[in-house]
Amino acid sequence: MRVYSDPASERHFNELARVEAPERFPAALAGVDAAEKAGLPVERRSCKLAPENAVLAVHDQGYVEKLREMSAADGGYLSLDTAFGAGSFEVAMLASGAACSAVESALSGESAFAIARPPGHHAGRDYGMGFCLLNHVAVAAANARSLGAERVAILDWDVHHGNGTQDIFYADPMTLYLSVHQSPFYPGTGAIWEVGEGDGRGFTANAPLPAGSGEDVYAAAFTGVFEPVLREYRPDCLIVSAGFDAHADDLLGGMRLETESFGRFAAALVALVKEIGAPPPAFVMEGGYDLGALTDSVAATIIGVERSAPPRWGYPGGVKQIEQSREELAPFWRSLR
Ligand SMILES: [Zn+2]
Repeated sequence: MRVYSDPASERHFNELARVEAPERFPAALAGVDAAEKAGLPVERRSCKLAPENAVLAVHDQGYVEKLREMSAADGGYLSLDTAFGAGSFEVAMLASGAACSAVESALSGESAFAIARPPGHHAGRDYGMGFCLLNHVAVAAANARSLGAERVAILDWDVHHGNGTQDIFYADPMTLYLSVHQSPFYPGTGAIWEVGEGDGRGFTANAPLPAGSGEDVYAAAFTGVFEPVLREYRPDCLIVSAGFDAHADDLLGGMRLETESFGRFAAALVALVKEIGAPPPAFVMEGGYDLGALTDSVAATIIGVERSAPPRWGYPGGVKQIEQSREELAPFWRSLR
């Protein structure tokens, strides 16, 4: 697996959210080291700034210019929890660039992981919030499209709903957005009935789960909704918004996933893309606020991609939220009827 990162990730400081700390970056990289020590093939690569055309395909030019100008001065505030300092725009552009490189690697047949901060999935076309300035998976999806991928899928297993990603692609049938998240919880979006609009109807799939959910319920979201929809959609590119804040030890999330759960999610997705003849997934780090859990979960994800057999989950039926999600999406997906 290729790992894309840049030391700049440690230079961004959000004074309104100390939990999204610079220390998250070395903690995540320690997970890469651990995977390598366990004998897994890891190739570390540097990354460039995201291509301007990919950034402007998903973000409003005025918003990007505002970030650039504020960052060239002293930084500023985007919301009650999102501050940035001088130089943070470049840090975010490198994080989007890491995601773009991860997608390029995946499209060439080699799975990849973009490890960078700040996270991205709460940033929309013209707004930043939830610690996010630019939406890295959205920029990477635009990059994939410019490289010839027709159908892009983004699967988001961060404990928070990726409202920014959903917003950006809400009317776009060529970008499928799948999210499993804690609900009710920040940012308050991601209800089952949010399925897209216009031509994009059916191409947003949400599996909101109650606090305290463990891997068994997540497995139901994968096998009951995500896997059948992905099989039917047949993406040419799969990007994973890989947040690790649904870990039981996380400081913000209230879920009960184990470290190894992330490895099983990754292994399940690797097996699925193989089955449908799609390139390997590109993982993009989002949240994850307990440093130890972050290290271990990054390692587990790499191990899951490189070495694990897919989990023997099956959808048993009867999980209330998943049944509702299947019902809401059934008009758009034959496999859910
Ligand atoms: Zn999160």
